[in-house]
Amino acid sequence: MINKKMLLKFAFDQGFHAANIITSKQIQGIIDHFQGKYSAFLSQTEKQFAGFFHTPFFSHDPGFTLLMCGLSCYRKEQNQPPDAGPAWGAFAPFARRNYYAEAVQRLKAVVKEIQKHTGITKKQTRIFCNSRAPEKFLGWASGLGEYGKNSLIIHKNLGSLFIIAGLFILLPGGQSDECKIPAPSWSLCGSCRFCLDACPTQAITSPGSIDRALCIQALSTCLIILPDHIKRAFGNRIYGCQTCQEVCPFNQGLRLETQTTKGDVGAWIPLSTLLEMPPLQLKDHLKKTVPGSSWIDMRALKRNALLASGNLKSRTLLPLIKGYLKDPHPALSDAAAWAVKMIGS
Ligand code: SF4
Ligand code: SF4
Repeated sequence: MINKKMLLKFAFDQGFHAANIITSKQIQGIIDHFQGKYSAFLSQTEKQFAGFFHTPFFSHDPGFTLLMCGLSCYRKEQNQPPDAGPAWGAFAPFARRNYYAEAVQRLKAVVKEIQKHTGITKKQTRIFCNSRAPEKFLGWASGLGEYGKNSLIIHKNLGSLFIIAGLFILLPGGQSDECKIPAPSWSLCGSCRFCLDACPTQAITSPGSIDRALCIQALSTCLIILPDHIKRAFGNRIYGCQTCQEVCPFNQGLRLETQTTKGDVGAWIPLSTLLEMPPLQLKDHLKKTVPGSSWIDMRALKRNALLASGNLKSRTLLPLIKGYLKDPHPALSDAAAWAVKMIGS
């Protein structure tokens, strides 16, 4: 029979930097404990739970065991563009490799080990990563880390620069069902408010609360017309924003890096590449990378490239930018007109 020690060993053997186990009964105990104390936070989490667990897989009785894993997405590389030549757009460090795909591959290997050593079948397991599951909540509940005011989970050795992946196993918790109550949200932040003050759009409206209508991370894949102050705050970002993580004291002096070439998209991309390629060709160019994920509309990245061109005041890109002035999508024609105004024709 599988036990907690074996599961953790399988995870660490696959190179995960953090791992913990929690059962369905313990999750329920934590929700019950915090009910009323963090009602807004829990009602959001419960909504996610309702959506995610409303499938035959999770109607299993008497419950499940969950292996929660953390994989570092910290990168040591410089944040400067390669040279002063072409105008470059930036990918946030966490998106420069496909750590999600890497974590899924490692969890598949864990499942194979579980199958080899127990009677559990593949059908009794389910992997999730970058999914609809309430991953941050489950990471916190399992003890991977504590919530910071930037709404992310902070681990003692990984800061907030790690991705969370999990493996459900249809296996009752049994002996390990005693409920350990995790620390309340952002208790480790103390009086620090670096992330709230550093956010270029003031998207962290109060500790732990992110206004997605202001957050560059969320907006970078949202194909809409952005207000001018957000356009300016985008700078030359093409996908993702990590400013609220870069300033966090818990992310200073990190050392653990994940060695993978999966989905290597680099730190920079020439803006001319983004502006020249038709969306389908761009999708192919970014295949298997995080910015090329199936759910991302390539026109949103093109909109960001137009904003970056304007923010960098790249006169050499003007002919390409002007090609978007009559684009049928208003988010692109608007961004092109704004970029032309910024550069000054
Ligand atoms: S990701 Fe960027 S925009 Fe969003 S809250 Fe953090 S710093 Fe602000
Ligand atoms: S920057 Fe400060 S307030 Fe924000 S998550 Fe880190 S420790 Fe907490």
